[in-house]
Amino acid sequence: MLTLKKPKDRLRWLFFAALFLAVFLPNVGEAASVTFKDLARYQWEDGKKAIQVMSQSRIINGYPDGTFRPAEPITRQQAAKIIAMSLGLQPAPASFTDVPKGPSYIGALQQAGVVSGDQQGRYRPGDHLTRAQLAKMIVLGYGLQMKQEPKLKDVKNDDLGKYVRIAASNGVMTGYEDGTFRPNQPVKRDQAAVMIHRAMRLVGDDRPLPNEPGDSPDAGKPDDDKDSGEQPGSGNEPGSGDDSGEGEVPPPGDNTGGKLFRLFVDAGHGGEDPGAMGKLADGSQIREKEINLDIANEIARIFRTEYVGVEVAMSRSDDTFVMLSERTRQANEWGADYFVSIHVNSAASPSASGFETYIYNGPVSAETVEKQRIIHQVIVDKLGLKDRGMKRANFAVLRESKMPAILIENLFISNPADAALLSDPQFRKQLARAIVEGIAKAWNLQKKKTSAEFSNDNMNNQHLPESEQSQPVNDATESSVDDAA
Ligand SMILES: [Zn+2]
Repeated sequence: MLTLKKPKDRLRWLFFAALFLAVFLPNVGEAASVTFKDLARYQWEDGKKAIQVMSQSRIINGYPDGTFRPAEPITRQQAAKIIAMSLGLQPAPASFTDVPKGPSYIGALQQAGVVSGDQQGRYRPGDHLTRAQLAKMIVLGYGLQMKQEPKLKDVKNDDLGKYVRIAASNGVMTGYEDGTFRPNQPVKRDQAAVMIHRAMRLVGDDRPLPNEPGDSPDAGKPDDDKDSGEQPGSGNEPGSGDDSGEGEVPPPGDNTGGKLFRLFVDAGHGGEDPGAMGKLADGSQIREKEINLDIANEIARIFRTEYVGVEVAMSRSDDTFVMLSERTRQANEWGADYFVSIHVNSAASPSASGFETYIYNGPVSAETVEKQRIIHQVIVDKLGLKDRGMKRANFAVLRESKMPAILIENLFISNPADAALLSDPQFRKQLARAIVEGIAKAWNLQKKKTSAEFSNDNMNNQHLPESEQSQPVNDATESSVDDAA
């Protein structure tokens, strides 16, 4: 749900829109100078300097309340984001079981060989980062070599110990006065900033990153980090401000040789944001975030298994919270060809029902308008839905996405009949399929051939020159962004 339609709801809508903007959009006025209100009396000079330099470069961020919280332990996710950004890495897919699918900074570090996770294939993004773990990330990330081997009483002679000694020998991290290093101790946020900043200076790379004012929707925006400090890692950081790296994201799954169509599927809401809520006849509650996710996952599944030449990335493929700015940042950096946001509508009046689609109400390409028209019509026709029309609105995901984008409001969760339909898994499957067919028609995407069609084609191809023969169905096209690595 992203809007209320009735004119008398307009004031209400404006109120919620303002609230929404206040919560989710940056205070642009603060973008230029970065100050954290809890650092006014902060004493550690190294810490001040590192935080200042790195926050100007958008490598580190504070919290939504304007604090930096230097003494809090840094999480593995937060550290991954800072290091990946300091290295200029673009988000990339990760293969950890506990990291959301789709491009992330954790994935960028994994692909760069800087992090490898635990033996169960997990990254443990919410865990506190230990000093030894940070040493390893810094040494591998910045390619540091052993200088004069330091003496550290409590550091083992294992792999992790080696990284600790290399980090210490470069002065990036130091031991304690009693000769210990305390490798298992968690790293505080200001300590991490200082250590990473030292590594950046070592390799001569502590210049502020180039920023493109106005191009980075949430430059200077603090993290949405209300959830126990675990959010600001790859999942919820503002755009890097470095959009010059476009096209540098490795093309996951693109091993067919041809240009793949990149579809970004955005399941609205998630995690602590349930979206709109509805009640079924039996009194049970349904939540928009779950319906969105189910439809979005089914759309992705159908494209991956039944279509050829289509790559799908998702803003989330499970019940996690992803900021709006992060959704469009991922799509923009991935170089998506089309952005599809899946939502369910809601209104104060239970009588409101039906289907509608949205595109941005500012300047859009003719393509954007045309795709909406085709997709909207296919879905309405195929399912016989009550058509509320094609609409335009200033929704963040539509506004901030650089490619053509559509937001689909799939019926009203606040309407009993619509809610009953939405709670039916079969209907959600049909809905997903109708959306897929609309997108496929709009963008001329092709289904994989069945084996019968395939052998038929091979017969027909016999007398064609090789270049004109139809391409064999290649399993590799199924390797999507989520499956890569
Ligand atoms: Zn919604």
